[in-house]
Amino acid sequence: MSRQYSAKVAGQYLGKPNSDGRYEVTLIKGDGIGTEISDAVVKIYKAANVPIDWEPVDVTPSLINGVTTIPKPAVDSINKNMIALKGPLATPIGKGHQSMNLTLRRTFGLFANVRPCKSIVGYKTPYENVDTVLIRENTEGEYSGIEHIIVPGVVQSIKLITKKASERVIRYAFEHAKSTGRHEVKVVHKASIMKLSDGLFVQCAKEIAKDYPEIKVTFELIDNTSLRLASDPTTYSKVVMVMPNLYGDILSDLSSGLIGGLGLTPSGNMGEKVSIFEAVHGSAPDIAGKGLANPTALLLSSCMMLRHMGLNKYADNIESAVLKTIASGPENRTGDLRGTASTSSFTEAIISNL
Ligand code: NAD
Repeated sequence: MSRQYSAKVAGQYLGKPNSDGRYEVTLIKGDGIGTEISDAVVKIYKAANVPIDWEPVDVTPSLINGVTTIPKPAVDSINKNMIALKGPLATPIGKGHQSMNLTLRRTFGLFANVRPCKSIVGYKTPYENVDTVLIRENTEGEYSGIEHIIVPGVVQSIKLITKKASERVIRYAFEHAKSTGRHEVKVVHKASIMKLSDGLFVQCAKEIAKDYPEIKVTFELIDNTSLRLASDPTTYSKVVMVMPNLYGDILSDLSSGLIGGLGLTPSGNMGEKVSIFEAVHGSAPDIAGKGLANPTALLLSSCMMLRHMGLNKYADNIESAVLKTIASGPENRTGDLRGTASTSSFTEAIISNL
């Protein structure tokens, strides 16, 4: 099986195996369906003899002087292992602590969020051969959390774009294109309206592109990209898309829909030293605890993680078992894929295909 889901470049994985050849990886099980899908991954890894020892940590946030804080044992574990697999974490709406997802990304400098989206052979969707890679700036934009009440009834939310963060993620996109054989970087923006913020992002891309003459750079307005992705996603097959934070969040869900939904799409949050891999989806409170969750997205995220660690043969084995299971028919698929399997029967079917 070829490298289907890869985070590729970014900081090198600096972790080392212990004397038994085993690696320690931090595990954040997450909220809602997080426990169910994390347990499925752990079970499949054991059956596949992956040389990983999980280090589960609690990331229940505390508010210290109004600042959302990750428990110290979790921070220490991630810093030590430099790699983590993470289930989804719920964020309270309108009040309470800041998003733990954002806090983790900022704390560990996870500047690039790589979101591949690939059709699953044997699972029919309106389009076949979808193969998109979207890279989302992961630390700023509308997610900066800078909001003010100006007067009652009038609020202001700041979209922060910096040259430093833009250059970093755009360079990452070019490196990713180079190392994965994609010949074009497409910069998705709305600089026609946000002339300064998106304008800076576009300007940074024009500068960085000069260092990569072998890779074509193109620019596209976000609304146009949405239309083109929904009309014919195959035109993006040889492309790496890179964009500011919010656009990446939205377009990656759109891309998920093209291949069968959020249950299928993995991601990697890449930093210079630390990387955290997680599904694109959230905690799915509507199905939590019911045994209905599809663990595929977290499993494929874990395959990105294994490849980042250089454990490719385990990634290939697990990935091919997952894809074979989904292709084998509705009795082996979870409900989000129009199937009848439970999380645990799907997990067992994957194990039997290892
Ligand atoms: P969601 O992704 O949790 O769910 C959207 C829909 O997709 C739901 O109908 C859900 O049942 C379905 N779905 C998602 N994952 C699935 C899976 N693995 N198997 C089967 N069905 C699946 O989005 P939401 O409901 O908007 O968010 C719920 C919570 O998750 C919120 O608190 C949100 O802030 C949080 N969230 C966290 C992350 C993260 O941890 N990275 C990402 C997105 C949302």
